Amino acid sequence: MSKNYRSQLVGVFGYPVDENPTGVIEEAAFAAKKLDFRYITMLVEPTGLAGAMAGLRAMHFRGVNLTIPHKVEVLKYLDELSPAAKIIGAVNTVVAKEGKLWGDNTDGKGFLASLVDEGVAVAGKKVALLGAGGAARAIGVELALAGAAVVRVVNRDPGRGEDLVGVISRETPAKGEYIPWRGTAAIPGDSDIVVNATPVGLYPKVDDRPDIDYSWFSSARVVADVVFNDPNTLFLQAAAERGAKCINGLGMLVNQGAVNFTLWTGVEAPKDVMTQALKREFGL
Ligand code: NDP
Repeated sequence: MSKNYRSQLVGVFGYPVDENPTGVIEEAAFAAKKLDFRYITMLVEPTGLAGAMAGLRAMHFRGVNLTIPHKVEVLKYLDELSPAAKIIGAVNTVVAKEGKLWGDNTDGKGFLASLVDEGVAVAGKKVALLGAGGAARAIGVELALAGAAVVRVVNRDPGRGEDLVGVISRETPAKGEYIPWRGTAAIPGDSDIVVNATPVGLYPKVDDRPDIDYSWFSSARVVADVVFNDPNTLFLQAAAERGAKCINGLGMLVNQGAVNFTLWTGVEAPKDVMTQALKREFGL
């Protein structure tokens, strides 16, 4: 009987990348599904991306994740893009398919799935999105494609904010609106969902929270944060105090990992195993 000693390889390219916990959840999922896949966390500097992408092809990787600062730069090394990745203009997941590299963006899909897991429907809703960076672009576009009526982008930099609003209004059925963020931002009173897609509150600056008027929060609202380290941000604590439904950044991370797992393996992801692995890793 012939044996196969060659594992299927996936992983992540980033700079910095040492503290990226995705490998923990993917490896737990591979083990649970008894798949001979390995997820390798790789330090790739900006000047090394071309070589790393060539290496990906040469070493027959099944795919890879991209994180800071490679999500836009990687586009030039790919053969095909998903419709969402084309609209967002950034890729966080590459899949090797019959010799071609196909790029998708699963950040927003993971976020959307974390809402669905908590019973939150997006269709027809008015969303206020804090931030217009990489995570916000992916989330804004996916919420718009999932049927949100309006996506209000609240951002300090008008250029980045208006660019995302333009993409949403032109490329999706939703309406995009830009809300300038100078001083304390006021969230429009009829918004149903507010999402913090800025890094405010991320470790080690856990005593920070976005500068918005918190009187908007109430039991009628859904409040979500992308920050997952520490997941119990001051932003979510303020929302919980006022009775809002709170969704932390762990769900987005696990769901994004689950989407990637299925893209690479073709197998349904063991989300419970992945959630438990992440919670263990964070001592939760
Ligand atoms: P970017 O640097 O691309 O964008 C950051 C955005 O936040 C910009 O719009 C910036 O505004 C805004 N911002 C930064 N600081 C402030 C501040 N003090 N007040 C108001 N706005 C601010 O970052 P990313 O989008 O890549 O990442 C954002 C967060 O998302 C990070 O914490 C990251 O860890 C998290 N993330 C979580 C994931 C998960 O699975 N849970 C997945 C991916 C990311 P401006 O344009 O005005 O500068």
